[in-house]
Amino acid sequence: MSRIFSGIQPSGELHIGNYLGAVKNWVELQRSYESFFCVVDYHAITIPYEPDDLRTRRREMMVSLLASGLDPSVATVFAQSMVPEHTELAWIFNTVTPLGELERQTQFKDKASRQESIPAGLLNYPVLQAADILLYRADLVPVGEDQVQHLELSREIARRWNARFGEGYFPEPQAKLTPSRRIMGLDGNTKMSKSMGNTVGLLEEPASIWEKLRPAVTDPARLRKTDPGTPEVCNIYHLHKAFSPPETVEHVAVQCSTAGWGCIDCKKVLAESMETELVPIRSRAAELREDPTRVQSALDAGADKCRALARETMQGVRERMGFDG
Ligand code: ATP
Ligand code: MG
Repeated sequence: MSRIFSGIQPSGELHIGNYLGAVKNWVELQRSYESFFCVVDYHAITIPYEPDDLRTRRREMMVSLLASGLDPSVATVFAQSMVPEHTELAWIFNTVTPLGELERQTQFKDKASRQESIPAGLLNYPVLQAADILLYRADLVPVGEDQVQHLELSREIARRWNARFGEGYFPEPQAKLTPSRRIMGLDGNTKMSKSMGNTVGLLEEPASIWEKLRPAVTDPARLRKTDPGTPEVCNIYHLHKAFSPPETVEHVAVQCSTAGWGCIDCKKVLAESMETELVPIRSRAAELREDPTRVQSALDAGADKCRALARETMQGVRERMGFDG
């Protein structure tokens, strides 16, 4: 059985972009692959943060993942900082990673441009990510489109390490994308991101979701209700494709392009479709918050399993690199 690995940062609340681009796919794949899903907390400290917030966000991220449908009895769910081999392998990979490749990464350039002082950890982020994946020798990585470039680099790191120390030891991991691989923020300008504050939280209450949906950007050419719209250029239409049944999506396209509906009508229908999907997730999250030991024991069991696998991989790495004498 192929192995899949993927991670999410506790850098904020799990939003519908994370859910549609990655987490929903994790839930679908967890029974068909040997699966590892990780709250990558060491990644989340590459931007400024408060320790108390990190503690809360990490717990909330676990709750959100389990509420979304990850099942710790079939998938291994854990936190990165519980398995020290992630950072150990990252150091080793740093020594085979070309600096120029790191400087070229779009996410680095983007996040660095928003910080006054740029920590080396932000530059080296994709090296730790390569270690996360390759520590479990995973070959498939279900992610959103923004991670495709990092995965290319993970493959290059695997190739370079293998060529130097042991052909075939690490697989070259491939990205696995969903149709909702890039959900835009409600501002319509950039992708929805925890760090951009343009998100709709997966566990957000309907009133608060509606407050964000109502002013959300639609087809910019549709100035009046009587102007026909172009669904394909509208972020709301793309959210319909992710949340509404196919017949509703078709109806929405017709109503938009014939100016049958105004954008608010269209958003109301979207809010209903979102509710259908999000209500059970919210109620599972409420149950999980009531039972913190269940969440903690899932994490502990996950980390135990990962530590054993990580030790095994690192033993092979040490032998091949000359650290075993
Ligand atoms: P940050 O702003 O802190 O980087 P993020 O919202 O980008 O947070 P990550 O933890 O970096 O979230 O990514 C978790 C997963 O969600 C990754 O697989 C990523 O590709 C996916 N993802 C993130 N944003 C989107 C989006 N807007 N659309 C689809 N997938 C996304
Ligand atoms: Mg991100």
